[in-house]
Amino acid sequence: MELWYTEKQTKDLGITCKIKETLHVEKSEFQHIALIDTNQYGRMLVLDGTVQTTIQDEFVYHEMISHVPLFTHPNPRKVAVIGGGDGGSIREILKHKSVEKACLVEIDKKVVEVSKRYLPEISVALDDSRAQVCIEDGIEFVKNHKNEFDVIMVDSTDPVGPAVGLFVKGFYQSIHDALKEDGVFVAQTESPFLNGELITSVYKDVQEVFPIARLYLCCVPTYPSGMWTFTLGSKKFDPLKVEENNIEELDFKYYSKEIHKAAFALPPFVKKLVE
Ligand code: SAM
Repeated sequence: MELWYTEKQTKDLGITCKIKETLHVEKSEFQHIALIDTNQYGRMLVLDGTVQTTIQDEFVYHEMISHVPLFTHPNPRKVAVIGGGDGGSIREILKHKSVEKACLVEIDKKVVEVSKRYLPEISVALDDSRAQVCIEDGIEFVKNHKNEFDVIMVDSTDPVGPAVGLFVKGFYQSIHDALKEDGVFVAQTESPFLNGELITSVYKDVQEVFPIARLYLCCVPTYPSGMWTFTLGSKKFDPLKVEENNIEELDFKYYSKEIHKAAFALPPFVKKLVE
C-alpha cells in the first residue's frame, strides 16, 4: 500500500509526497504536530498540515534567514530568534564566532522536543552553551526586552494561530525597541506568487518603523510556489553595502558572497509589491 501526504497550500494548489514512514503525530496546546519521513525530501516537520522544514531543503531557508542579517551587522554578539523551534536558525547563527548568545523564543515546547528527537541534523546546536531556549510567546518576549539585541530573526509559521501577531506593525515596533541602536531585523514573509498583499503590507510597516527596509528572495522547493521572501529592517547597516571581503566562508550550501547580493535583485513583479 502506498501512503501519500498532501498539503493543501491554497484552496486550488497543493504539494504531495510519498510517505516512507510516519514517525510522530500529536496535538500540542498550540498546533497539530507531525513528523513524517518522505522518499523525496527525507524527514519533514509538519505543523497544522503545513510543511515547516525538511532534511533535504532546510539549508536554503535557514542559511538565508540567518547569514544575510548576520553579515549585514559587522559584529553580531547577541541574537534572538522568534519561533524557529526546529533549531535550524540557531545552528546557522552559532557558526558566527562573534555571537556570544543566541536566544530561541518558541511558543510551543513540543516543537523543540520533537525536533530534538527526530531532526538532530537541524536541532544540533540547541544544546550549545551559547544557545538559550525560552518557551514563551515571542510577542511578549520582545515587549519585555529593550535595547538588547544586535539581530532579531522572526522564523515563524504562516500568519495564522499564534503567529498572527508576528505580522503586525506593533510587533515590528517592539522588535525595533528590543534591538540596540544599530540592530538588524529579518522576518520570513511568504511567497510573492501567493501572498503579494501580505508582502506589501509587511514591507510598508517595516519601512515606517526602520530607516532601512529591504526585501530578498530564495528558493525553497517545499514552500508554496517555491519562491520565498524575507523582509529586513535595519537601524543603521544596509545589507546592500556589505563588503564582500567581510563575508567569511562558513560551510554554506546556499548562501555565498554572490548570493548575498543577488538575493536582493527582485524580478519586476516582486519589485512592484514593495514600490
Ligand atoms: N521555517 C518555517 C516556515 O517558514 O515554515 C518556520 C519554522 S518554525 C518551526 C515556526 C515556529 O514558530 C513554530 O514552531 C511555532 O510554534 C512558532 N511560533 C508561532 N507563533 C509564535 C509566537 N507567537 N511566539 C513564538 N513562536 C511562535
